[in-house]
Amino acid sequence: MKRRRFLSYAMKSASAAVWSQLVPSALRATLFSQTAVPKTSPNNSARPQLALTLDDPTLKLGSVLRWQEANSRILKAISEKNVRAALFVCGMRVDEPDGAKLLSEWDQAGHLICNHSYSHKFYGEQTSYADFAADFLRNEKVNAPYRNRTGLFRYPFLKEGDTADKRDRFRALLKERGYRVGHVTLDASDWYVSQRFVNRLGNQPQASIAGYRDYLAAHLLDRATFYRQLTLDVLGHDIRHTLLMHFNPLNAFVLPDIMNAFEAAGWQWIDASLAFEEPIFRSEPKTLPAGESLIWALAKETGRFEGRLRYPGEDDVYEKPKMDILGL
Ligand SMILES: [Zn+2]
Repeated sequence: MKRRRFLSYAMKSASAAVWSQLVPSALRATLFSQTAVPKTSPNNSARPQLALTLDDPTLKLGSVLRWQEANSRILKAISEKNVRAALFVCGMRVDEPDGAKLLSEWDQAGHLICNHSYSHKFYGEQTSYADFAADFLRNEKVNAPYRNRTGLFRYPFLKEGDTADKRDRFRALLKERGYRVGHVTLDASDWYVSQRFVNRLGNQPQASIAGYRDYLAAHLLDRATFYRQLTLDVLGHDIRHTLLMHFNPLNAFVLPDIMNAFEAAGWQWIDASLAFEEPIFRSEPKTLPAGESLIWALAKETGRFEGRLRYPGEDDVYEKPKMDILGL
């Protein structure tokens, strides 16, 4: 789940008409099957809105807790907010009978089941277009059994290709297969905070979770504030956001606190299907290397925000010194 190096851009968005021509109608019908009754209607809220998107469900969480407990805790936290999330499935982590049980629980709760590739390859110079494409297609079989599978694909590490050719060929493949990109707008490094928590428990089984919970909440809110302001400055208006989180031990314990913290800060949780209806999610920034948060990429493409854009947008290197100082 680790992110890695890279950079750069122009944006182009396909019109709705073009989109509808590109997507087979059958898939279009199933794309947002859960959206029949959205939690909120568009633009009726002065509050910033975000949807939870959760990546990399896995059966292997180490010795901290079993996947069954993690799964039920996370699903309960989401259902208490009465919203539906998007689950981005990386096949290699769940490709056995128990994995099907894990995914079924999400499917039955009405969450979107989305494609995150089979092997979580980094789409940079080390991965060819052919290998990346095959890996994406392989994951379709993992998601195939579920009623709420959708044509949303999220790039591992949010890396969309290191050359224009690889970037554009894969984008074309997504369209051909009836997919769109399951973009993250609010990017963060929750995976790293959890990793530090798990490491600490390995050395000190009685360690308190409180410091990690508070760090994670502050980190996610800080990043959300940053990317929302960037959105306002790049687009001139707000959008419905998608927050990146992961299926990991720390989140399994503290997701209710995280969701409450966003509400206390003025945010409103909405269905992922509603967020992904935003036209801006059809944008195809022409940056290289391609990827990162959609907002990061759109900002990069303008060339007007260099002073505010680090590369990569988020990574462990930014959090490590702060967590070291705090003794976490
Ligand atoms: Zn991932």
